[in-house]
Amino acid sequence: MSYRIRTWPDKILKQKMKEVDFFNEKKLEDYIDQMWEAMYKEEGVGLAANQIGIPYQILVLDTSLREEEENPVKMVIINPKIVHKEGEVESTEGCLSFPGVQITIPRAEKVKVVAKNEKGEDVEIDADDFLAIVLQHEIDHLNGIPFINYLSPLKRKMVLDKYMKAQKELLRSKS
Ligand code: ZN
Repeated sequence: MSYRIRTWPDKILKQKMKEVDFFNEKKLEDYIDQMWEAMYKEEGVGLAANQIGIPYQILVLDTSLREEEENPVKMVIINPKIVHKEGEVESTEGCLSFPGVQITIPRAEKVKVVAKNEKGEDVEIDADDFLAIVLQHEIDHLNGIPFINYLSPLKRKMVLDKYMKAQKELLRSKS
């Protein structure tokens, strides 16, 4: 199966994804397989479906790809909602959809997420530390919210101008 990483300003990254209501169907299995393949190939710790053009609320994550992680988890999370947030931390993040961009933004320290697993069963996830950050970043993607939204307008403009310039140069060097 082939995939293409959607990079900013692709409009699918600005849209809220549809809820999954087709559990136990091959279509869901295929989407998830494609997402794992893309995530591991691109060496991400998490991937939201719209990042490869799948318009549904699905995310995959595997925190074992982060070396210092003490309690790695690997999960498929469907139709997630953050129902509780606590505390605030500064988080330095990158994103496969913004190649070359790394920014520091505020995130909640702990989150509680309700979602479905790939069988359609209800799951509840209480997360802190790195897992809490990954969940917030990926769930934001499914709601059409890119991480640059947490920057002040001025900082966002600076980061985006630099990013767009680098993207243009990359395109030029490829042609
Ligand atoms: Zn991202």
